[in-house]
Amino acid sequence: MAGGQEGEEYLFKIVLIGDSAVGKSNLLWRFARNEFDQNSKATIGVEFQTQVVDIDGKEVKAQIWDTAGQERFRAVTSAYYRGAVGALVVYDISRRTTFDSVKRWLDELTTHCDTTVARMLVGNKCDLENIRDVSVEEGKNLAEEEGLFFMETSALESTNVQTAFEMVIREIFNNISRKVL
Ligand code: GDP
Ligand code: MG
Repeated sequence: MAGGQEGEEYLFKIVLIGDSAVGKSNLLWRFARNEFDQNSKATIGVEFQTQVVDIDGKEVKAQIWDTAGQERFRAVTSAYYRGAVGALVVYDISRRTTFDSVKRWLDELTTHCDTTVARMLVGNKCDLENIRDVSVEEGKNLAEEEGLFFMETSALESTNVQTAFEMVIREIFNNISRKVL
């Protein structure tokens, strides 16, 4: 990660984690390219996408890493986590098992990363209200217990996607500013 004074560049590594098929890749595509891929497979090979965000007039590069399907085999490597300063832990609001896995993902994150990592709990697929399996309250409560930001999103309908990523990026930026002071 690079950070620093006026005129310097900011580059933040952010990782997407969570069970298979919760919508991690689609959240990233929606954020980085404003696209949704209905037929997305667990693509092997895509590592990360870089998105430039303006935070208080400063140019911040967010390098967002996607698991590229590693999570199917519970084999997200330590290289994936290395140097991460932010994380979005994603579950699918229509599939409770993915919510039950959140604690395991948080444990894994704690094992590999600094405790200062900016963390957000993301309940994706909020467009699937008719088959909702996890309430908003449950998501909020878990986030509060674990000290995470919380947001429900829809990569399909483009709900809160920008906001979720930007909140994490802003928090990382604030963390750095606090360290500098
Ligand atoms: P990943 O394995 O976590 O990367 O999940 P993907 O991004 O590949 O998405 C898995 C499946 O969920 C795909 O069929 C997507 O079309 C679908 N999906 C992803 N995001 C949403 C969403 O916000 N709403 C709905 N309804 N489907 C979604
Ligand atoms: Mg994926």
